[in-house]
Amino acid sequence: TAPSGPGGSGTDVRLAGISKRYGAFTAVHPLDLSVPAGSFFALLGASGCGKTTTLRMIAGLETPTTGSVVLAGRDVTALPPYKRPVNTVFQSYALFPHLDIHENVAFGLRRRGVKSVRKRVGEMLDLVQLGDLARRRPHELSGGQQQRVAVARALINHPQVLLLDEPLGALDLKLRRQMQLELKRIQTEVGITFVHVTHDQEEAMTMADTVAVMNAGRVEQLGAPADLYETPRTTFVANFLGTSNLITADVLDASGDDLVLRAADGKLALPAARCQVPARPGSKVLVGIRPEKIALTHADDAGTVPEGRNRLRGRISSASFIGVSTQYLVDSPVAAGGSGLSVYAQNVDRDPRLVPGAEVLLHWNPGHGFGLDA
Ligand code: ATP
Repeated sequence: TAPSGPGGSGTDVRLAGISKRYGAFTAVHPLDLSVPAGSFFALLGASGCGKTTTLRMIAGLETPTTGSVVLAGRDVTALPPYKRPVNTVFQSYALFPHLDIHENVAFGLRRRGVKSVRKRVGEMLDLVQLGDLARRRPHELSGGQQQRVAVARALINHPQVLLLDEPLGALDLKLRRQMQLELKRIQTEVGITFVHVTHDQEEAMTMADTVAVMNAGRVEQLGAPADLYETPRTTFVANFLGTSNLITADVLDASGDDLVLRAADGKLALPAARCQVPARPGSKVLVGIRPEKIALTHADDAGTVPEGRNRLRGRISSASFIGVSTQYLVDSPVAAGGSGLSVYAQNVDRDPRLVPGAEVLLHWNPGHGFGLDA
């Protein structure tokens, strides 16, 4: 296989029926996945869902119970980690404390007896924007800087795939956000395939081209971040990625392009194509709608709401001003789970009457809803 690295193109990763059992417990159910060469792929899920196990099987640190790992068309399942064209960055950077940054990054090259180490290390440190700090020791760097050293060290051997296991987990929120953009920039620059494990949905959506949402050892849904967000296929995905309002509704008519549904005393429309379950009159569906897709109008102005929008009555129970937007919680009998409906409104032309206790109309474009199994 051709070496990759800055300017390289990486390689595709294919998992074919890969699974992992520990005794009677199945950590990863048979899984088929294809990660295109040069893409940024995220495995996203809550603690214990099997994402780290999946990553470790790609790395060769864990032996699959069934199935195979194929890199660039080559079955590497039987190869030890060091013979695979991959490298891993862990949350614990595990830098050598007694070596300076330059030597930390150079370590892998020196061990392999590579000449002209200095130039390659210099390029790598420039890539992660630490060229000026080459002679410092790890303890003289911030957490974010140490993490960049770990990335440089993992990239110096020109792996074709970089595996990242919660690499930003130890950083505070602000630094995390910075490093997300930084890692994305590095990935774009080196052009190799990144497979990134995280439990942070915002992190996955910020960085990845494709996200696989894992739940209890299975991939629930795989897609581009915007598709997962706009069209989740299960309540798990709807709730895991951002906040969802889920409204229990009865199907009245399923004969047209739009389903006609009843939720409490209101009628709702939902494009049939956006409903994940078969709908027929008498069946129930959950209508999902994101908080920022809902508009609030004071009940006194109900006549100003345009035709063709889904509308529900409610009463504001709380309003939290958070700068760019206000987050409202609205009591409504239709909210599945009974916790009210969330509405995020931009603070442009904010109606001062929208305070707790106010009677309101919630309304949205039916095309923004999604239908799930009730
Ligand atoms: P986290 O974010 O907490 O690391 P994860 O999604 O990465 O979670 P895994 O580390 O892949 O989860 O673990 C998946 C499941 O397999 C967990 O329930 C875990 O307890 C179990 N597990 C992992 N390693 C072993 C092991 N060596 N023996 C037994 N069970 C294990």
